[in-house]
Amino acid sequence: MLRRAVRAGLVHIAAGLGAALLIAVALANTTTGATPRLLGPFYDPDRLGIWLEERTPGRRSVIFMLARSRIYEDAPGAPRLVSPRPERASPAWTTDWSRAIPAMQASGTMIDPTQTQEHAFGWPAVCLASADYLEEQAGGTFIARSEHAHRINGVVVPGRVWAPGLVINTLVLGAPAGAAYLVGTLIISMARRHRGVCPLCCYPTDPEITVCPECGHDAAHEQSRLAA
Ligand SMILES: [Zn+2]
Repeated sequence: MLRRAVRAGLVHIAAGLGAALLIAVALANTTTGATPRLLGPFYDPDRLGIWLEERTPGRRSVIFMLARSRIYEDAPGAPRLVSPRPERASPAWTTDWSRAIPAMQASGTMIDPTQTQEHAFGWPAVCLASADYLEEQAGGTFIARSEHAHRINGVVVPGRVWAPGLVINTLVLGAPAGAAYLVGTLIISMARRHRGVCPLCCYPTDPEITVCPECGHDAAHEQSRLAA
């Protein structure tokens, strides 16, 4: 019974992990055409900047602007000032650009602190992410850079794993597989016991002898453990 539960757990994790990664990669390579829901702008007091987020099912995009306290939005006539209130911490899966930008600049990579953008994919939680930013060249021009955005045989694979999201998705998406394994093996072993064969290896067993002569499975031991 314990061995069956452990195997069901392994099936749950393997199926859930595979499904979580497949769904996230599929979401990164498709466009649903759904109109994104805009959240923000918010001022993140811990990261000293403004962030706003676009949401569509299975995907999130966050723009973070370091050292900004106000932003302007395109509007007919003249740009409109948008007040970033209320204060709210950036989503947990995002990079802390308030630390990353100064670190990159200290190492000689000058990036535009107002153009960092992150994209995350996954369902029900986001679990894989990549980032885009603009890097300033010596001549003052900017070139677009991506981080953790891998391309494998034409398939975009976001390479930064957000572990809490991956754990959530693995647990949720693997549940049907784990439950199906548990129920399936229980039905098979009950049917074998009913047929008078060993529930593990199908060897015909004598009802008087509880230990299978073929594989050593101890039915009495399992019964007592089940009863306990
Ligand atoms: Zn057996």
